[in-house]
Amino acid sequence: MIPATPELLEPRDVPLGGLRATTVRRTLPHKRVRTVGAWCFLDHYGPDSQEMVVPPHPHIGLQTVSWLFDGEVDHRDALGSLQRVRPGELNLMTAGHGITHAEDSVGDGPLHGVQLWVALTDAHRERAPGFGHYANLPVDGGVKVLVGEFAGLVSPAEVYSPLVAAQVSGPVSVPVEPDFEYAVLAVDSPVVVNGMTVPHGGLMYLGWGLDRLSLGSGRVLVLGGEPLDEQLLMWWNFVARTHDEIVAAREAYQGGGARFGPVIGDSRPFIPAPVMPGIRLKARPNR
Ligand code: MN
Repeated sequence: MIPATPELLEPRDVPLGGLRATTVRRTLPHKRVRTVGAWCFLDHYGPDSQEMVVPPHPHIGLQTVSWLFDGEVDHRDALGSLQRVRPGELNLMTAGHGITHAEDSVGDGPLHGVQLWVALTDAHRERAPGFGHYANLPVDGGVKVLVGEFAGLVSPAEVYSPLVAAQVSGPVSVPVEPDFEYAVLAVDSPVVVNGMTVPHGGLMYLGWGLDRLSLGSGRVLVLGGEPLDEQLLMWWNFVARTHDEIVAAREAYQGGGARFGPVIGDSRPFIPAPVMPGIRLKARPNR
């Protein structure tokens, strides 16, 4: 495989219904790079004082990763999970065939974090939903591993494709997996990554074929994985492959059936699904 050219993915500001009084910076999916490994969605918010209020809503075909740098968030879901997540801890929800959840910040101090989605591969995307909380992730110096293996540390988090995510406070130089593609998010400030400056909030897509990642001073989130060879159809909170799957999931959710149960302990109305566009949705290439 020919090494890919590094490419800076500038964040775009998106309004997010559930986050008040601030901006969410979205870098994945990006029109030129839709996935990094199976990572298919990356929102970065904060560190301003703000409130996250996300009432019950559904997901299919993905895992959600909730990761905080500052603040606290409560997660509730249809399985009955109730889990507060704090900085340095991982909440990992597997939507599989379908789940509903809600997330709300606790208190009114600074809130700073990321919300990531992992696309489940065809072999796993219809699996039963699940939820995991990991409060004791492997750490060494400035490296903490959320998912997969990095710098010789292995996360216990359960994922279903070759994947990595690590929070790193540089400077540090780490050997990496040449068969993976990587991207690096500059969390607090500009950071130099393999000699290139990544602006604050930017995601530097590094492609594959690297054997080392050299990170300058500053805090980053490293994402990586084997390039996904499946084309995704992402619509609203659903990751699927075909238009008809999206329609079926939307109808099941709007109909209030068993596929998407109530969020236990949360009686707020569900967030309604948007109206489907008047065209047939199609899966898209990842590049
Ligand atoms: Mn969600």
